[in-house]
Amino acid sequence: MARRLPPLPTIADIIRLYGLSARSQLSQNFLLDLNITERLVRVAGGDLSSCCVCEVGPGPGSLTRSILNAGAAHLIAVERDRRFLPSLELLSEASEDRLKVVYGDALDFNIEESCASFVEGKSWEGDPPNFHLMGNLPFNVSIPLLLKWLSLMATRTGPFSLGRTQLTLTFQKEVAERIMAPPNDPQRSRLSVMTQHLCHVKWGFKIRGKAFTPPPKVDAVVLKLTPLVTPRITVDYSTLEKVVKALFQYRRKYIRRGATLLFPEEKGGQTKAQREGLVEELFRLSGVEETLRPQALTIEQFGALTSAYSQLVNTDNVASL
Ligand code: SAM
Repeated sequence: MARRLPPLPTIADIIRLYGLSARSQLSQNFLLDLNITERLVRVAGGDLSSCCVCEVGPGPGSLTRSILNAGAAHLIAVERDRRFLPSLELLSEASEDRLKVVYGDALDFNIEESCASFVEGKSWEGDPPNFHLMGNLPFNVSIPLLLKWLSLMATRTGPFSLGRTQLTLTFQKEVAERIMAPPNDPQRSRLSVMTQHLCHVKWGFKIRGKAFTPPPKVDAVVLKLTPLVTPRITVDYSTLEKVVKALFQYRRKYIRRGATLLFPEEKGGQTKAQREGLVEELFRLSGVEETLRPQALTIEQFGALTSAYSQLVNTDNVASL
């Protein structure tokens, strides 16, 4: 039976009592309805007893409460706005110290150092560990945070040194659509490729903008990400990032145009003719048609281009990005 919190003032009361007006520069949009945060917890798996959770941006603590009510054995909540700390400390006491509040920036925070002692690490091939990353993410850091976590996932470091740690997070709806977009979808982007080659992504549910206080102009979506045992393609993550970024630079053009960016003129003194020769070689080696647009490419085609690019830049005198 999951441990529950004792009766507490409502989140609206907490906001009023502590004078916690929302700050737009920190993307503060609060969820006051615990039915929504409980639903978010159900996307993560429901029963969190024996789990350790790291929550990004607890704010006044609605999702924090739902995580604790789902029985989480340990919850580390990282918050960048000091104003929330006193009310979160009260929640920590009510949780019988299952909640630890950390003041800091989630982008720099060393998650595994704080959580490793509570987590039973699992092999990458095994089931996900009893560890979960969660958050109603601040919209302005959701993409940098996701990209950071994906790079750690690719190298199985940070929170992923403990196994295939799962993530349940909110994103701006348009960002969630980009993350999930298949080839040929108008929303297909760099985020789709970088995420889908490493993770299984599940659409949880949509949260209407008006459910937040203050309401943003956009809706949000809860996604659950589970790292794949075997990534869809085996390539060096940072090289893939360069290739994907270059090709999506010109979204409406053929990929040949973006591919020229991969062989910069100024860096290695390559002539225009040499660069064109390299681009041609890139498409010949990869077997990918140069007259496709970036949105049309499959993950496997990005993989083939990345392998061909690595092969070319490992050749003497070829300057790369
Ligand atoms: N979890 C609360 C909720 O659902 O009502 C608040 C969500 S609000 C969208 C985002 C929270 O993240 C705010 O409390 C904000 O102060 C915090 N935040 C913003 N940037 C942050 C960062 N870089 N690191 C940690 N917390 C951050």
